[in-house]
Amino acid sequence: MNELLQKQKRYFRTGETLSLKFRLKQLIRLKETVKKYEQMITDTLKAELNKSPFEAYTTEIGIVYEEIRFVTKRLSDWMKPQRVSTPLTHVGSKSYVYPEPYGVSLIIAPWNYPFQLAISPLIGAIAAGNCAVVKPSEYTPAMSTLLKTIVAEAFPEEYVTVVEGGVDVSQELLSLRFDHIFFTGSVPVGKIVMATAAKHLTPVTLELGGKSPAIVDQSAHLELAAKRIIWGKFLNAGQTCIAPDYVLVHEAVKQPLLEKMKRYVDELYGNPDAYGRIVSERHAERLVRFLANGTVVHGGAYDIEQRWIEPTLLDDITWDDAVMQEEIFGPILPILTFETIDEAIQMINDYEKPLALYLFTEDQDVQQQVLHQVSFGGGCINDTIMHIASPHLPFGGVGQSGIGSYHGKASFDAFTHYKSVLKQTTKFDIPLRYPNFPHALKWV
Ligand code: NAD
Repeated sequence: MNELLQKQKRYFRTGETLSLKFRLKQLIRLKETVKKYEQMITDTLKAELNKSPFEAYTTEIGIVYEEIRFVTKRLSDWMKPQRVSTPLTHVGSKSYVYPEPYGVSLIIAPWNYPFQLAISPLIGAIAAGNCAVVKPSEYTPAMSTLLKTIVAEAFPEEYVTVVEGGVDVSQELLSLRFDHIFFTGSVPVGKIVMATAAKHLTPVTLELGGKSPAIVDQSAHLELAAKRIIWGKFLNAGQTCIAPDYVLVHEAVKQPLLEKMKRYVDELYGNPDAYGRIVSERHAERLVRFLANGTVVHGGAYDIEQRWIEPTLLDDITWDDAVMQEEIFGPILPILTFETIDEAIQMINDYEKPLALYLFTEDQDVQQQVLHQVSFGGGCINDTIMHIASPHLPFGGVGQSGIGSYHGKASFDAFTHYKSVLKQTTKFDIPLRYPNFPHALKWV
């Protein structure tokens, strides 16, 4: 692996990856190769996670096409050195900021959106002029192999390559001196990644997880709140980093919300054959243990061998239950209540800063209060998930939910160092900065 890294470092130093023309050509090549393998990607997502072709396109393949389209349109602007102001004290000089690639990036991906979460960061790496090694998740081995095929067909190994494997391979890669690490995965592994990167002072972007709340206050449009929460929660069988982890509803509207949510579970995800699968039996076993918490008010059936868990709503949950102690990352939705918005805010702030927050309310004051008093990665007012699909919105966490962000321009920035340069004149030399300056009060 070190040989591979050195090969990429040598290739990077040739300067080949730096021109706009080269970067655009590679992004188009990536798009064309993905297009060629589109059916295989769709089939693999179906085989490993039972994703429907519709879901495969809207949450994985289509997002990648849109990201490439967005980036290629704007890349020439982003790459230009920016002239910035110069203070009066620096008279005679000009100031510039030059974007430059880090060099060779390591991209480590998870299994839940195994295609999109490997390729989206790669788009940023290529756009910014880097070489890259991509390590997909071992839990979706067919997609891992397919990613290797796609990337090997699109790019030479010394430029971009996929290294397959599990924790041992990941750790071996992490021990090497990459110029940047982009990691998507869980909080505990994020800590390992950062600690390992610290040995070489390698900069990291960490896209992690956490418990993302959906707050519903008494002024909310309950019909749409129920529909949008259920859609976002149970998409991909709840295995979405920004899925609403739990619902925090005003007690006055809990019952009507619950009734509507039950109806939408049946309407949107009522067919077990078409429903997503949990990635492994081990992951399914962890989730099934949560079903003993509180009262199951809808769903609750499961088949561990089939890696299937019915979309489930849990009532009578307390903050001490196991289901509230870690990110759920599966099709189980606990419902808790609050009496005042201050109380809801305090409950959320007692946890780590969430990756996402969703607030359903028609009350502008409540919107302002939550936005001002709660720190979270990103989110929506009166919707779930949709913020992730806008290339204009940087996507990332804060605190334990992550470091840095990407998507659109933010992806370019994530893989870029901004080099600040002051260009000084030699036509004159203002002596104020020199010691013994009264003797130096003369022009050069
Ligand atoms: P994970 O942390 O277990 O694994 C992610 C990657 O890290 C895999 O490629 C794996 O091989 C590697 N890895 C695992 N253990 C390692 C170790 N000890 N040392 C080095 N590398 C190791 O995460 P996962 O189970 O694949 O994904 C689920 C988690 O990812 C959830 O917490 C979810 O919220 C988070 N996630 C975040 C985002 C985001 O964009 N913020 C997106 C998807 C998933």
